[in-house]
Amino acid sequence: MKIAILGTGYVGLSTGVCLSQIGHQVTCLDINEQKIVQLRKGISPIYEPGLDDLLTMNMAAGKLKFTTSQPEALANAEIIIVAVGTPQGDDGAADLSYLVQASKDISSYINHDTIIVIKSTVPVGTNDFIKKLIEDYCGFPVKMVSNPEFLRQGSAIDDTLKADRIIIGSENEEAASKIQKMYRPLNVEVIITSTKSAEMIKYASNAFLATKISYINEIANLCEAVGADVQDVARGMGKDKRIGEEFLYAGIGYGGSCFPKDVKALLHTAGVNGVKFPLLKETIAINDFQREVLVAKVLKRFGGLKGKKIAMLGLAFKPETDDMREAPSIPIAAALTKYGAEVVAYDPVATDNARKIIGDSIKYAGSIDEAVHEADAVLIVTEWKEVKSIDVAEMLAKMKEPIIFDGRNCFPEETIRACGSVEYYPIGKPAII
Ligand code: NAD
Repeated sequence: MKIAILGTGYVGLSTGVCLSQIGHQVTCLDINEQKIVQLRKGISPIYEPGLDDLLTMNMAAGKLKFTTSQPEALANAEIIIVAVGTPQGDDGAADLSYLVQASKDISSYINHDTIIVIKSTVPVGTNDFIKKLIEDYCGFPVKMVSNPEFLRQGSAIDDTLKADRIIIGSENEEAASKIQKMYRPLNVEVIITSTKSAEMIKYASNAFLATKISYINEIANLCEAVGADVQDVARGMGKDKRIGEEFLYAGIGYGGSCFPKDVKALLHTAGVNGVKFPLLKETIAINDFQREVLVAKVLKRFGGLKGKKIAMLGLAFKPETDDMREAPSIPIAAALTKYGAEVVAYDPVATDNARKIIGDSIKYAGSIDEAVHEADAVLIVTEWKEVKSIDVAEMLAKMKEPIIFDGRNCFPEETIRACGSVEYYPIGKPAII
């Protein structure tokens, strides 16, 4: 099938690469010229494991193209997939301005048979609103499909090629059936719903996962107070199939470009529809609190931070991505520098993006060794494999003081105890001093 994709971000690019991989003819369109120039050279503007190989392979096979030209991408497309950003607006609602512009762009090039697929995460009712908007421009009825995306950054390619399910929401049977056919080579279970249910499935899923994280973080704080170990508690809980093991990792809160904004957008939708949703309010409040837990522990240990060198390991909001949007490292770095610490951070891939957000208020190291050299303490902020596999004793030997604040519970107790002289402050379990 001939497919155009609007937006070459984490979702649009991963989707484009995977759809070309399963045999479709894909043209990706973006308004960001720099991204398209890079992509045309076969260079991915984002870090995503497995993406580069599929990108170059499918470009070489002539199945995947990149352009900034709307007529080139849109004029002959049978299916147009919209994957532009829907960031958080000032009032907590999703900001639909990119989507509205993209819809206007589309309307000049579509015909009666074109199917428009909204993959961006959008509040319930948005597909209907966009349908009307496009029809007002082009003057004939259009076929719309809501097809929310569930990929996770860091495993986007695998998640797309081996999705748990594909949601297709449409009031047009023919359009739903064509999109089902588009995905058939993936051999993934498809759930067909109304447009509104599809839109709601996305928000309900993300808000549930965020709530699961906030729940285990509250349990972690309680574990600390009563002397239990949250990792043992989570293991014991997770074996119950009704609960499941995923998303039971206590830490310093969720971040990224989706959970924070999607939880707030769902709360906004509830509010404008007169539905109170106190659970979501607490999910947000707990997450905000959790981001401060690590710094509070540092302050409690040191009193003041003037003249202290603090190493931060990890900047990205989670491992295997260079994405810094809503990363817990941002408020943590701000708080440490506010209290006078000299902060030296290391991240395997997110440093350039971090510099754009955090700026020069902290220093950026090229290696873990450089970051921890003569440090008074190390803070584990992102659980990168490189961080989890550190030789802890060797790292401690390079530091001024052997003190670790582990926001992601990266190291087993035996590893820490084997280091001898150490102070180790994990989340939701007893400190080792
Ligand atoms: P992103 O910000 O990484 O990328 C969006 C891209 O769209 C940018 O490259 C931008 O230049 C481009 N764009 C904006 N307007 C355009 C237009 N008119 N024509 C062509 N291109 C245009 O965003 P993302 O992280 O890929 O997210 C996209 C959507 O998918 C959002 O709604 C998000 O909530 C949702 N989503 C994201 C993830 C994730 O893990 N990132 C997962 C599931 C769903």
